[in-house]
Amino acid sequence: ALASSALLDALIDERAAQDPTRFRMLTGDRPTGPLHIGHYLASLRNRVRLQEKGVESFVVIADYQVITDRDSVGAIGDNVRGLVLDYLAAGLDPARTTIFTHSAVPALNQLMLPFLSLVTDAELRRNPTVKDELALSGGRPLSGLLLTYPVHQAADILFCQARVVPVGRDQLPHLELTRTIARRFNGRYAAGHSVFAEPEALLGDVPLLMGLDGTKMSKSKGNVINLGDTADETAARIRSARTDPERHITYDPEARPEVANLLTIAALFRGESPADVAEAVGDGGARRLKEVVTEAVNEGLATHRERRAELARDPGYVTQVLHEGNARANEVADRTLATVRAVMGMGY
Ligand code: ATP
Ligand code: MG
Repeated sequence: ALASSALLDALIDERAAQDPTRFRMLTGDRPTGPLHIGHYLASLRNRVRLQEKGVESFVVIADYQVITDRDSVGAIGDNVRGLVLDYLAAGLDPARTTIFTHSAVPALNQLMLPFLSLVTDAELRRNPTVKDELALSGGRPLSGLLLTYPVHQAADILFCQARVVPVGRDQLPHLELTRTIARRFNGRYAAGHSVFAEPEALLGDVPLLMGLDGTKMSKSKGNVINLGDTADETAARIRSARTDPERHITYDPEARPEVANLLTIAALFRGESPADVAEAVGDGGARRLKEVVTEAVNEGLATHRERRAELARDPGYVTQVLHEGNARANEVADRTLATVRAVMGMGY
């Protein structure tokens, strides 16, 4: 993975200056529920930054991947539309960023067939993120889709020749597998020609944001602060966060992980260091800390939330964004699949 942090902008400039086409971006989210501040700080902000640097961008709404770890798709239509609202509110511009649902792009899904031939059962089974997700899915048996979705994700990334993938830390094993698949495809089926380039992960300022209960902030777990929450809902959620009884607030991720995570959230929204925020809270204890975090989040998201509410008033626009994005993704996927079939001798 590329290093992240304050160097991010310099890094992006350097890469983009070398060759912007080397820098096509893909990221995405599962439409399992509303986006939270972990998505915003770890991935969404970087997507907008890359778009603003002139990087051609694709964002996949991974609808088939909802059923990797559950029996029903739930309110998938509403969730898809909610994701689009957050993308647009955060500043993704559908004229420059292709927003699509992978179920609507048949040629992308067909790439999974040759890709599956390039990985072994043992490689799939030792993926640590898949193991974590299996453990969290409440005693469910490992489905074929949970085992193989990282290969599907490789199709999401490689169909558009993405070179950079802004993600959270949980996605690094999947990126590694995507690189392996690209390499093996070229070697085994394309006589060493570079049909697929190996993409790189781009970690955000916070590779893994913890939730209000001290475990990974996840849509599926309810330990979140959602981008679309109201200011009052945000305050209530932060009041429920786990902390410790020590009144003097210090930034100590090892000894005080819950307090450190709250300080990190406030710091990222305020553009300060967590230690500075700790000093400002001083002897105010958990109560003052939570007030400071609430204020930082609500201020940091005020514009996003206003834009989101405004966009939500025009559902027809969201539909149009999806239709246009799906059409563009289909063109790209059809071209890639044609190349794949041709190099495999299936171009009849
Ligand atoms: P779910 O619980 O449904 O899996 P999720 O919160 O894990 O939801 P995903 O849609 O699976 O969200 O992930 C979308 C992107 O957001 C991925 O790049 C993932 O790495 C990143 N991401 C998700 N949660 C966090 C987090 N807590 N910290 C940093 N990045 C995160
Ligand atoms: Mg997830």
